[in-house]
Amino acid sequence: MSLIVTGTLGIDTVETPTGSAERVPGGSASYFCAAASAQGPVRLVGAVGDDWPEDHRAALSAFPQVDLAGLEQRSGSRTFAWGGRYLENMNERETLFTELGVLEEAPPSVPAAFADSTLVFLANSHPAVQKSFLEQFAQRQLSVVDSMDLWINIAKPELHSVIESVDGVLFNDSEVQQLTGIGNPYSAAQEILEMGPSFVIVKKGEHGAVLVHRDGIAVVPAYPVPLEGVVDPTGAGDSFAGGFMAYLERTGDLGFESLRNALGWGTVTASFTLEQFGLDGLRGLDLPKLTDRFNRLVEITRLG
Ligand code: AMP
Repeated sequence: MSLIVTGTLGIDTVETPTGSAERVPGGSASYFCAAASAQGPVRLVGAVGDDWPEDHRAALSAFPQVDLAGLEQRSGSRTFAWGGRYLENMNERETLFTELGVLEEAPPSVPAAFADSTLVFLANSHPAVQKSFLEQFAQRQLSVVDSMDLWINIAKPELHSVIESVDGVLFNDSEVQQLTGIGNPYSAAQEILEMGPSFVIVKKGEHGAVLVHRDGIAVVPAYPVPLEGVVDPTGAGDSFAGGFMAYLERTGDLGFESLRNALGWGTVTASFTLEQFGLDGLRGLDLPKLTDRFNRLVEITRLG
């Protein structure tokens, strides 16, 4: 199996109650790739402008399992940029600004060598870009989409069309509610399943995640990180997705039991991201470190 992602490569500015980081490497695809690469190879397709800082390229290149052949740098274009501020509980945030830049242009092209990808992840980006990306992988065995409040607000019909075409949906609880108008995650997920996908994952921040699948339901708590250990939650959702999809790629098993385990791998991967600003928490992450936390998660969730 081969894992591919498209999404944003962003210049992030983040404020938390205890610190801040300005113009650090971020974006949904960057976090996804850095996170997935702790378990195996991952292909990246995305675009940046000529304002993309050289040290951001260096930061991504520090993850050797990320194949950057699909990274397009465009002269005369501007890189996607995003600013966010976290509230005291570190679980809620407000977006301060979003500069779409290259996202308003033609989507990046997929290198011929990537055409045989079988696991396709549509990280947060414009739904129209996600849809055209998805359609380029005739051999796909599993496709999963993530999205965000902005796209539900400005491109809902396009997002619906993506949801109808994928196998899985991975949204925050607030996004699921915004999309369906239903507060209960199980009922909301049921409504999304009726649109076509086989499963829905509802991410609930510090309260874990829920998998609602045609073959069953699974629930996982967040890995226990005390508040003083949470430095910057940005990218935790994308890292969850990276850990989740990379586990599926590593095992080659796309059944319900495997997806249930993948929830755990996504969870522990995300726990590393929020311990530092930007991509720093993922640097040097490997299978033994992930396995330690995965085993602890198994231990603390054991019942019966
Ligand atoms: P997360 O914390 O997992 O929701 O992801 C935050 C990352 O998503 C940041 O690094 C941002 O650069 C990026 N981001 C923020 N807003 C958007 C958006 N509307 N579309 C795509 N990526 C975004």
